[in-house]
Amino acid sequence: MADDFAPGTVWLVGAGPGDPELLTFKAARLISRASVIFYDALVGPEVLSLVEPETRLAHVGKRAGRHSKDQKAIDALIVEAALAGERVVRLKGGDPSIFGRATEELDACRAAGVPVRVCPGVTAASAAAASLNLSLTLRGLARRLTFVTAHARAGEELELDWEALADPQATLAIYMGKAAAPAVSARLVAAGLPPATPVVLVENASLPGERHFATRLDLLPLAARTALGDGPAVILVGQAVAATAAGREQASSAANCANS
Ligand code: SAH
Repeated sequence: MADDFAPGTVWLVGAGPGDPELLTFKAARLISRASVIFYDALVGPEVLSLVEPETRLAHVGKRAGRHSKDQKAIDALIVEAALAGERVVRLKGGDPSIFGRATEELDACRAAGVPVRVCPGVTAASAAAASLNLSLTLRGLARRLTFVTAHARAGEELELDWEALADPQATLAIYMGKAAAPAVSARLVAAGLPPATPVVLVENASLPGERHFATRLDLLPLAARTALGDGPAVILVGQAVAATAAGREQASSAANCANS
């Protein structure tokens, strides 16, 4: 096999949702061969414990409302390391291609003539569905799966196509949606989605502190405010979530047993 990680190469690597067993073999191989790893806030200690001692680890994390390096600074760091002959891993939570600012980093590498490749990862919605023993799609009931981010810049209103999102035959996987939960609930109901549409919030999917909370669309703001801690959370909306309620209870009681 040709060497896919020559010095001077950048890999954007999906770290998955947190459980190191949800890393791909490829991600684990690239992590162990990197000379430097730039990682996000959402890449947890369990995954980082796989990094070889001689590898340089640099935190470039971003979390809503907290200080972080801006994207251009991150792009510059990666390119600079590659041009200096390092084997660079840019480690991102979940899948790099889903709300991961991958395009900016790919473009920066290409503009500098740096070879760059992507290793996919398990995205948060998939991990959340797996924890709940549910399917995100459902024959005849949930024919569409929409990944949407409900993150708005500070002071700006959330601008989404609410009419399109309020599809009773879709499952919505809402990322970065905790702060915007009141707007999401009100706008989806106003656009015609029934107030009783099932919703599940999953915090820290696949991690030891995982929590689930099942509710309905009109009660989502209350749930987002009171049922979650400050971990990352994904909000799943739609009939697919209700149809597997039995599986969900099983999963929750298994998680409760594991936690006790
Ligand atoms: N690229 C990532 C998403 C990055 S955006 C992916 O594919 O999963 C960050 C958002 O992802 C968080 O605000 C949260 O909504 C979601 N998220 C990431 N990890 C999570 C986890 N372990 N449990 C629940 N949600 C998670």
